[in-house]
Amino acid sequence: MPGYDAPIREIRFLLEDVFGYDQHTPNLPGFEEATLDVVMAVLDGAAEFVKDVLVPINLPGDREGCHFDQGAVTTPKGYKEAYELYRQNGWPALAASPDWGGQGLPPSVALMVREFVASGSMSFGMYPGLSQGAYRAILAHGNDELKQIYLPKLVDGSWMGTMCLTEPDSGSDLSRLRTRAEPDADGSYRITGTKIFISSGDHDLTDNIVHLVLARLPDAPAGTRGLSLFVVPKRLAQDLPGALAGAPNNVNTGSIEHKMGIRAQATAVLNFDGARGWLIGKPHGGLRAMFTMMNSSRVGVAVQSAGVAEISYQNALAYAKERRQGVAPKVSKATDSTARTGNDGRDLIIDHPDVRRSLLTMKALTEGMRAFYLDMALLLDVRAARANSPEGEAAENRLALLTPVLKSFLSDCALKVTELGIQIHGGYGYIHENGMEQFYRDARIVPLYEGTNGIQALDLVLRKIGLDDGRVFESWLASVEACTEHAASIASLASMAAAERLAVAKLRDATARLRAWQAASEWHVAGAATDYLQLFGLVTLGALWLRMACAAHAGRERNPQLASFFSGKLGTAKFFFERLLPASETHFDAAMSGADALMTLRADEF
Ligand SMILES: Cc1cc2nc3c(=O)[nH]c(=O)nc-3n(C[C@H](O)[C@H](O)[C@H](O)COP(=O)(O)OP(=O)(O)OC[C@H]3O[C@@H](n4cnc5c(N)ncnc54)[C@H](O)[C@@H]3O)c2cc1C
Repeated sequence: MPGYDAPIREIRFLLEDVFGYDQHTPNLPGFEEATLDVVMAVLDGAAEFVKDVLVPINLPGDREGCHFDQGAVTTPKGYKEAYELYRQNGWPALAASPDWGGQGLPPSVALMVREFVASGSMSFGMYPGLSQGAYRAILAHGNDELKQIYLPKLVDGSWMGTMCLTEPDSGSDLSRLRTRAEPDADGSYRITGTKIFISSGDHDLTDNIVHLVLARLPDAPAGTRGLSLFVVPKRLAQDLPGALAGAPNNVNTGSIEHKMGIRAQATAVLNFDGARGWLIGKPHGGLRAMFTMMNSSRVGVAVQSAGVAEISYQNALAYAKERRQGVAPKVSKATDSTARTGNDGRDLIIDHPDVRRSLLTMKALTEGMRAFYLDMALLLDVRAARANSPEGEAAENRLALLTPVLKSFLSDCALKVTELGIQIHGGYGYIHENGMEQFYRDARIVPLYEGTNGIQALDLVLRKIGLDDGRVFESWLASVEACTEHAASIASLASMAAAERLAVAKLRDATARLRAWQAASEWHVAGAATDYLQLFGLVTLGALWLRMACAAHAGRERNPQLASFFSGKLGTAKFFFERLLPASETHFDAAMSGADALMTLRADEF
């Protein structure tokens, strides 16, 4: 069974040395008490919970899967007990407002905990993960009555949430949603329709499930402008004429999916058969309200990606340090591999250059992923604490620009990392008992849900880079250039900064060309989108690796006891700039070639 220790040292490095957390929360009204010590204590508790409770149920839960019997869903052995502990420990309440029973910590703290939980069990993490989105959507758009009824229960974890958009004929294209909402005399609505692929759609972890459902009112305009959002509980949450609170609502589970991965997570078909629902926000304003939930879920997907990558990396590294095969070339003094050669003359696989290439790719991506999501998470803190201020608005704009990159680039990285985790194990990686193939299967969902990566790339090129006439992009790029110039001023980091400068120039050039193409050649923009997003992601990770390298450079001088930690960071940064960032050139060339090569073949020529 795979092992796991939460990356506490890594997170401390990022918060303390890279992002200057001690300057972060003191300036955020409401979060002043979330000092670094407080945050690290919370994370220590989460680390223990994940290691002791979640890691042991992950592999058996994958093998057993969820059960569907006579319309009811049960989760695998141990999941209910694990959730009860999770709830009793107060984890669902971490970042919720004290007004609703929450602990009032910054959103970034909850996201770091979510990373650990996703490492322990991606399937488990999705149950409470969706509740956080439901909480936010009701908080932002619900009326007082809905808030009073639902928020305390979501915050104390006794109820959970879902997000119900997808229908059989309507996945990426929400304009075709058919679920109907008919107003009732008592102020509620009758919801009728079928939703598919609903994560945590039904289960035995809580008594009630709070579904957030997109549906159409009778007078709704066609397309996405005609969608409204409703809260539809599995069991009624209030007394109605002829039906008391606690009575089943007409939400029936049709089936659960048999999936490639996240098999302990119940993905359900839900039939709403005239179920009672309550409008959240304005009529026909559903998509806007749902986006509150989806944007938070997209950051959640990025965090999941980092979590599953981390546990895969940890186990690949441990294996590479114990498996002996062949004789490694003794070329590098740095690796001191001779000292580790076994009595039979064979070397550990960590001493083979090609295994190091895989391990370093895993390490550089995983640590870069964490830095990227944490950087975004700190913006979420600013947005939460400084809503309606210029600072809050700037954070909001930057989040809007970077969310598609964060979601897509990190989910693609998760696949690369977990795939390499299998490869490093050789044939043993393909065997279920060792757990490595589960990480890959589990990770395979992240580029698909919460908007496929292809759709995210279109959002980036068609909407996000043009936000505020390109000023949001320019302001972000200026921050990248500033940290590049800072790194360039440190002699030992100058070649890394030079590589980043070239990639930044390519991104600037590509962005200008895409914006120019937009008026006349939308097909070129659409054809370039995914490669452009990869280029964008690499530049973003480059900037973060420069920040980490600068911090490690300073830390090595300041703190000689941690010399090997900091040298490890600097060596990984070197690897990133020499072996991973060059892919930005290929993505630039591919993006700039336009869509001609994509659109030449007629369908019958494929
Ligand atoms: C395990 C799992 C859990 C899920 N959880 C939820 C949930 O909790 N709630 C929920 O509502 N949904 C959920 N989903 C649904 C998920 O969000 C959709 O599957 C996803 O949005 C894609 O829709 P689709 O499957 O219909 O694919 P399609 O939209 O049919 O897409 C098929 C392919 O075509 C591409 N494509 C489609 N349109 C375009 C376009 N305009 N331009 C370029 N490319 C395009 C896509 O990128 C994709 O590669 C879940 C799905 C799974 C598998």
